[in-house]
Amino acid sequence: MSKLLIGGRWVDGVSTDRLVDKFRGEVFAEMAVASPEQVDEAVAGALAAVEASTLAPYERYRILSAAARLVEERSERLIALMRDEAGFTRADGDNEVRRCVQTLELSAEEAKRLHGELVPMEAGAGVRDRLGFTIRVPRGVICAITPFNSPLNVLAHKVAPALAGGNAVVIKPSNHTPLSAVELCRALIDAGLPPELLALLHGPGSAIGRRLLEDPRIAFYAFTGSTRVGREIQAAAGLRGTQLELGSIASTIVCHDADIERAIPKIVNAGFRKAGQVCTSVQRLFVDRRIAGRFVPRLVEAVHAAKAGDPADPSVVIGPMITPEHAERAASWVREAVAGGARILTGGTHEGSVFEPTVLDRVDESMRVVCEEIFAPVVSVIEFDDVGEAVARANASPFGLSAGLFTSDISTALRTARLLRFGGVHINEASSARVDAMPFGGVKDSGFGREGPAYAIREMTEERLITIAY
Ligand code: NAD
Repeated sequence: MSKLLIGGRWVDGVSTDRLVDKFRGEVFAEMAVASPEQVDEAVAGALAAVEASTLAPYERYRILSAAARLVEERSERLIALMRDEAGFTRADGDNEVRRCVQTLELSAEEAKRLHGELVPMEAGAGVRDRLGFTIRVPRGVICAITPFNSPLNVLAHKVAPALAGGNAVVIKPSNHTPLSAVELCRALIDAGLPPELLALLHGPGSAIGRRLLEDPRIAFYAFTGSTRVGREIQAAAGLRGTQLELGSIASTIVCHDADIERAIPKIVNAGFRKAGQVCTSVQRLFVDRRIAGRFVPRLVEAVHAAKAGDPADPSVVIGPMITPEHAERAASWVREAVAGGARILTGGTHEGSVFEPTVLDRVDESMRVVCEEIFAPVVSVIEFDDVGEAVARANASPFGLSAGLFTSDISTALRTARLLRFGGVHINEASSARVDAMPFGGVKDSGFGREGPAYAIREMTEERLITIAY
C-alpha cells in the first residue's frame, strides 16, 4: 500500500486506487488517494518545516549523498517495482536507477557549491564606502509534479536540487507510477532528511494537482509533463516561479557523411527504449536521400530484431506502453498515416499495451505521427536533399526540446547546431542523449527552465542582495 506523507508521517488517504502492472493489467498494489484537506495540511506542514529548518549546506550534502548510496543498494527492488508500475525492462529500470543515483550525487555537490557574488558597488560615480554581495536563500515550498515515463529520475531532478538549496518539497507523482516516489522519499528519510521537509500526495491531477496550483503558500512549481498541463500550471502560478519541462517532437538528422554503423544503434536505443515514451525519443528521423537506400534497410533490420513484450523476459528490449489506451491511440495515428499514403517498414501493430517497434516512411507534415507528439515506439523517416531543408522542417514544429545530428563534417555540425531551434543539439548522438549534469530543457512549447542540478538549484533558490555602508 502506497501511503501519503504528510507532516512527516505516513498516513492513509480518503480512498484507495488500485495499481495494475503494465504488462498483464493485473492489480498488484494499492495507492492512498489524498483529500483536498490533506493537500492543505501537507503544504502547511512543509512550510512550517522549511521555516524552522536549520539544515546547513554540508548536512544537506551528507543526506543527499547517503540517499544516493541507499538508492544504489536498493536498485534490485526499484527495478522490480518499475517493471510492474511502469512496464520497464531491466535495462530501462537499471538506467533509471543509475541516473537517479547520479542526480542525487550531483545535487549533493551543489549543496556545497551554492554561493553568491561580490557586487562592484563602487563602480558608479560618487559611490564610496559601500560593500555589496549576494547570497542564495531557499524559496520555501517547492511543488514537484511529475509524469509516468521517468518515475524515479525526473522526480530526483526536482526533489534533490530543491533540498540541496534548503527548500521543503511537496510531491505529486503520476497516478500510473506512485511507488517509485514512495521509495525515493523513503531513501531520503532513511538517509537522515527530517521527514517534515517532504510531503507526498497521490491522486488525480485534475483534483490534487489543481488544489496544489491554487495554494499561494507554494513558491515554485517544478513540473514535467504535457504541454497542456504545463499551460495550466503557468496560468495558475502567476508571479510565482516555474520550471516547465513539457512535450516534444524530437528530431534527429542523418547527413550523407554520417558514420552509419555508429548512428544506427544510438537511433534504435533513442527511438524505442521505454517503448518510445521518452520526451527526447526520436520521432522524426531526417535522412539524406543520398544514403537512404543504404541506411534505411539497416535501420529497419535493427528495429525488427528488437523484441517487444513482457518486461520480465530478459530477451525483451521494448516493454509495454503505460496503458492499452495509449497504445491504441498511437495505433490509430499509424492507421491514419497509412490511409494518407505512409508506408510501414516494420511493426505497425499492437496487442494490448505492447506496441511493435515501428518505422514509417512516405509520411508528410500533415500526419499526426509527424506533427503531434506520439510518445510511442514509432519513428518516421523523412528524406531530405540538403541539410538546410532538414533544419527548416525540424524547426517547423511548435516544440523545441532536443535534436540529434550525425555528420563527420565539423563545419556542418557547428553551423547546423546554431540553426536548430531546440534546447539541446547533440552531434553524433540521437536526440535522446542526456547526461544528468547537463542543462536540460526546452524552448517554444517544450517549456522553459533548466534541469541539471547545477542549473536547477539556481532556479529553486532566490538571490538576495546585501549591502553595507562603512
Ligand atoms: P501529464 O501532463 O498528463 O501529467 C503529468 C503530471 O501532471 C501527472 O502527475 C498528473 O497527475 C499531473 N496533472 C495532470 N493534470 C493536472 C492539473 N490540471 N494540475 C496539476 N497537475 C496535473 O503527462 P504524462 O502523460 O504523465 O507524461 C507524458 C508527457 O510528459 C509527454 O508530453 C512528455 O513529452 C512529457 N515529458 C517531458 C519531459 C521533458 O523533460 N520535457 C520529460 C518527460 C516527459
